[in-house]
This record gives sequence, structure tokens and C-alpha cells, in this order.
Amino acid sequence: MESSYTNIHTHSIVPDNQIISIVNLDLETPCPEQGYYSYGIHPWDLDNVVFQIDEAMRLLEERLQSPNVLALGEAGLDKMHKACFERQIELFERQIELSEALKKPMILHDVRSHNEIIALRKKHKAKQPWILHGFNGTEKDAQQLVGQGICLSVGESLMHPERKICKSLKFIDLSHLFLETDMAEIGIEKVYEAAANLLEMDINVLKTRIFANFAALWNTGKTEPAS
Ligand SMILES: [Zn+2]
Repeated sequence: MESSYTNIHTHSIVPDNQIISIVNLDLETPCPEQGYYSYGIHPWDLDNVVFQIDEAMRLLEERLQSPNVLALGEAGLDKMHKACFERQIELFERQIELSEALKKPMILHDVRSHNEIIALRKKHKAKQPWILHGFNGTEKDAQQLVGQGICLSVGESLMHPERKICKSLKFIDLSHLFLETDMAEIGIEKVYEAAANLLEMDINVLKTRIFANFAALWNTGKTEPAS
């Protein structure tokens, strides 16, 4: 039997029986009854003049109650963005606490903040799985993050041979690897094809491995959609 594709982080709903997706929704969007979703407060939201952290946290907690919401995210840190880094840390720490309290894994946005993210994981003794999305780091970055139990999700960077990830992909422990489309207007199949080529691996083996990672993380006996 063929495994499904697993798209761990996307912003678009693509109804397809052969793809399991975690779709990231805005806090204002109520959770649909079908499918899997994530809600979080992005560090960029701090830039919005009408943003209120307490109000956003309250709404986030409400959204996370739905069993269809598998993860809290995107949340994280972005050193290249103009939002005050101290406030980003405060917002991220509050979301770490919520993720731990509600036992929902996190999907992380990380721009040049690996060290701070690892330090905060240790500080909070976080037990929930974290998936760092859009990973495009070196072999050393990958080993450092995976060494702390952080999973890495890789997307359309795989289509650009000059990106660091094309060299470092094969060093990511397969039990900590996910694939995603994020904002890119490409099918997840294309990301799997590129990854399978770089790993010199049969695409069906890759699909099986990544689906197993998904099932292990959510540990809810979720089965693949019938084909
Ligand atoms: Zn995203």
C-alpha cells in the first residue's frame, strides 16, 4: 500500500485524500470541522499597531481547544524582523507555556535565532515536540537542533540547488524530518521528489518514513486516509 504525503505546514487548504496537511489559519478564522490545523501568534504580529498580546493569547487558547488543531504555530523568533526582540521572546515564552499546558506540539518560525530557541527549550524544560519549519541551515545547525529533540521541516528551498539545505538534508536524522509547502504555490509531491532525489531514496520509502514521524508525534492512532 502506498503511503500518503504529509504536508506539515501550509497556508492553503487543498482537499486531497492522498495528502495529510496541517493548515495554518489566522486566529480570526474559526476552525473547520474537517482536516488538521495550527494556530499561533507569529512574531511579526507584534508589528501590528492594534495587536494586544492578552487578547491574542486568550483567542489562541480558545482555538487550541479543538481536537482538529494539532499544533500551536507559527510561533518563534525572527532576528531579521523589526519587531522588538525582547517582546518577541516574551510572546514566544507565553506560547511555550500554553503549548506545554495544553500538550500541543509547536511549529516554529526561526530566523537566525537557533541559539535562543534552544536556550528557551531548556529554560522551560519543554516536553512537547517542536518542529522548526522552513529549515535551511547547515549540517552543524541541523545536528545542534535535532540534538535537542527539535524536528526540522524543509520546503521549497530543496528546489534551489544553491541553498544550504541541499547539502545538509542528508545529515538530518530521518526520524526528525518533515516536509512542507508553506506559502509556496507548489504541490507537496514536488517537495518529496526533490528530497527523495537528494537523499537518493525511493519516494515511497520517504513517504512511509515521514508519515511514521507524523503518527509518532501525534500518537493518536490517526490512520492514513483510505485510498
Ligand atoms: Zn508559514
